[in-house]
Amino acid sequence: MISELTLTMQGIKDKLADLPERISGLREMAYNLWWSWHPEGRELFKLLNRQGWYLSNHNPIKMLNQMDKGKLEAASRDPHFLRHYDSVMARFEGYMNPTSGWFCANVTEPQKCAVAYFSAEYGLHHALPFYAGGLGFLAGDFLKECSDLGIPLVGVGFMYPQGYLRQMISPDGWQVGACEILDRENAPIQKMADLNGDPFSIKVPIMDPPINLEVWKVQVGKTRLYLIDTSSEANEPENRVISDRLYTGDLERRLRQEIVLGIGGVRILEAMGEKFSVLHLNEGHPAFAVLERIRMKVEQGMNYRDAFEQVKGTTVFTTHTPVPAGHDVFAHQLLDKYFGSYLPTLDLSREEFLHQGENPVRSDGFNMTAFALRSSKYHNAVSKKHGEVSRKMWQQLWPGQSLEEVPIDYITNGVHVPSWIDRRLGDVIFKRYLGRTWLEEHDQSRIWEMVDEIPDDELWRHHYAMKGMLIEKIRERARNKWLEAGSDPNPNIVMASGIMLDPATLTLGFARRFASYKRPTLLLQDLNRLKNILNNPWRPVQIIFAGKAHHDDQQSKMLLQQVFNAAKNQVFGGRVAFVEDYDELLAQYMVHGVDVWVNNPLPPMEASGTSGMKASLNGVPQLSILDGWWIEGYNGRNGWSVSGAEEGPDRDAKDAAAIYELLEKEIVSLFYDVDEDGVSHGWVRVMKEAIKMSGPNFSARRMAKEYTEKFYRKGFETAMKADYRKESGELKQNPFGGI
Ligand SMILES: *Cc1c(COP(=O)(O)O)cnc(C)c1O
Repeated sequence: MISELTLTMQGIKDKLADLPERISGLREMAYNLWWSWHPEGRELFKLLNRQGWYLSNHNPIKMLNQMDKGKLEAASRDPHFLRHYDSVMARFEGYMNPTSGWFCANVTEPQKCAVAYFSAEYGLHHALPFYAGGLGFLAGDFLKECSDLGIPLVGVGFMYPQGYLRQMISPDGWQVGACEILDRENAPIQKMADLNGDPFSIKVPIMDPPINLEVWKVQVGKTRLYLIDTSSEANEPENRVISDRLYTGDLERRLRQEIVLGIGGVRILEAMGEKFSVLHLNEGHPAFAVLERIRMKVEQGMNYRDAFEQVKGTTVFTTHTPVPAGHDVFAHQLLDKYFGSYLPTLDLSREEFLHQGENPVRSDGFNMTAFALRSSKYHNAVSKKHGEVSRKMWQQLWPGQSLEEVPIDYITNGVHVPSWIDRRLGDVIFKRYLGRTWLEEHDQSRIWEMVDEIPDDELWRHHYAMKGMLIEKIRERARNKWLEAGSDPNPNIVMASGIMLDPATLTLGFARRFASYKRPTLLLQDLNRLKNILNNPWRPVQIIFAGKAHHDDQQSKMLLQQVFNAAKNQVFGGRVAFVEDYDELLAQYMVHGVDVWVNNPLPPMEASGTSGMKASLNGVPQLSILDGWWIEGYNGRNGWSVSGAEEGPDRDAKDAAAIYELLEKEIVSLFYDVDEDGVSHGWVRVMKEAIKMSGPNFSARRMAKEYTEKFYRKGFETAMKADYRKESGELKQNPFGGI
C-alpha cells in the first residue's frame, strides 16, 4: 500500500540528521508521536536529559535540537542509557510492524483496504496546536487508535502556522489573545521533500492564481498525517494566509480553505502515491474532497453519474454538531467564482452541483453538511441522542421517509485510553488489579469489573496526589504571571488565577472551549447561593475554570469576562479560579486532578462531549446536564445528572438551581463523609463506577471498531467489487471473513 514514491519521499534534512550513529534511532522515535502515548518512550527522553525534557515542555524534537553535542556523544557510550535505548527501540519497532494489530488479523487483504481521513483540525499533543476543541481531539484520538488497531488510515489536515492562540486575560477580564507563530523547526513535524530533496509542492489549479501547497508529515504511530501548508513564498500574499489559522470568520477565506483541504488534499495523496479506497469526512469542512475523487474517475473515462455513485458508495461522513455555526453555508456567487471552470472537468452542470448543496428546509446557499450527506453513503452522528437530533434536522433530504428510516446512524465518540489515562493510575494501580495486559484488552468489559478489587484507600490517595499536582501546576503558572506582572501588579489577578486553591477542598472543574451553548457562566447564576456553597467553613468547595473563546466571538469573550470577574471577586475567598491558556497539557492535569467534572450545555446542543469521558476514565465522576454522551453514560451510580429544564425564559436559572441542589444535598456531604481511615468510601464507590462505565464503553477503540464494522468494511467491499469489475474478473472471495 505504501508506494515506492512514499518510501523514498523523506522529510527535509533537519538538525537531527547527525545524531551519534549508535543512538540515531532517537530521530525516528522523536518524530513519531508514539512516545506521547507510550510512557516508556517518554521515560527514555527523560533519562537522556531530564531538565531538557522539562524545559522543552515535553517535546523531544525541541529537547534534542537544543542538546549539547557532547552530551549526546556521552549518552551514546553510556551502557545504562544504551540498555534502555535498545529495549525501548525494540518495543517501538515491534509496534511499527505494519502487519500487526486487530485489523490485519481479521482481514485477509489488508493492503487493499485503506482509509483517507480528512479533518480541519487535529488535537494530538500540546506541541502541535492544530486544534480548537473536541472535534480536533476526537480526530487525534482516532488516528492514534487506528494505529493501535492496525487500521490502515492516512490523515489529511492543515498546518496552521498561527494556530496557537496564547490566551492572556487583561486585568478587567477581557481575553487579549495573541497568535503564536508555530516554531516549525522544533515541532515533531517533518516537511516533505521530493526525490531531489526540494520541498514537495503541488498546485491547486482551481484557484487563479494557482496555490502551491507544501506538505508536512506527522507520524502518529503507524498512521501518517499530512498537513497542508499554504505559506510558501511562491504564493501570492493573499494565498499565503489561507491556512494561517482555524475557522476564520471571513466566508470567502473559509471557502478557499475548504477547497484547499478537500481538493488539494486528494491531490496530495495522489501525488504521494497514497492509495485509499474509503474516504472519511470528519465534519463538512473537507467535503469537496468528493469532487476531486469524482474528477479523477471522469478523467479516466467514466461518466459523472457512475463516478458519483462509486465515490458515494465508498464515502463516510460524520456530522458533529447541531449548532448552526458548525455548518458552513456559502453563497452561490462565491461558488461560481471558484468552481466555474472546475465543474466541466467533472462533467457536472452548475445546477446539479448547486442542488447537491441545497438545504431542503432553508435555501440560503450551498450547505456543506447537505452536500456531504448527499455525497456519502454512510453517515453518522456522534451519540445516540445526536443521532435523533440529526435525523430530525436532515429528514427532508430523504422525502417520504419516516424519521426512523432517515439513514443517519450514530457511533458514540470515545477517547484514546492510553493517551488520557494517568500514567501512575494505568501503570501501577490498573496493572496491579486489572492485570498486566489491561491496556491491550481495554475494550473488554470483564477487565473493568476488576476495578472493584482496587482498595478504596489506594484509589483515594492516588487521586489526592493527582489533585495536589494539578494545584501545584496552577500555582506555578500563577507565580509566573506574578513575576511577569510588571511594575504595577494587581493582586486580584493573581488570586483569580488560582493561588488560593487548597488540595483538601472538594474541587469542581469546568474546562472546555468557551461557546455560549456550553453555558460557562451557568454556575454563576445565583452568586449568593454559590457563595454559600463555596464558603461553607466546614465543607468548602472550589471551582477551577479554563477555556478559550474564539478570536471573533465577542459573546463568548463576555462570558469569559464574567467568569474571570467572579474569580477576582473577593466574596468567593479565592475559591473560584480561572486558569489561562487551556491546552492539551492543562487538560491532562485537570481531567486527572479535579474531584468532579462539570458539564452544563444547553440540550441538545452538546452532540457528544468527550472531556467527561476522559475524567471518568480517571475516576473523576461527572456532574452533567443530560445531553450528548451522558444520556448513554449515566447509570445512576457513576456521577450525577440534571435533566435540564424545558425551554423558557428561566431555563438557565432552573438548571443552575438543580445543580446547586445536587451539590448542597448530595455531592458535598458524600465527599466529606470520611471514615476513620480518612477515606470517603461512598465517594470512592462513585469513582469506581465512573471508571467501570467509561473504560469499556467510551474508548476510541470501541469507536474505531464500530466505524470499521459498520462502514469501512462495506466501503472496502464496494471499492473492491468495482476494481474486480474493472479488471473484468469476479470477486472470488470475501476478504472480510473475520471482522
Ligand atoms: C477533550 C478536550 C476538549 C473537548 O472537550 P468537550 O468537553 O468535549 O468540549 C477540548 N479541549 C481539550 C484541550 C480537550 O482535551
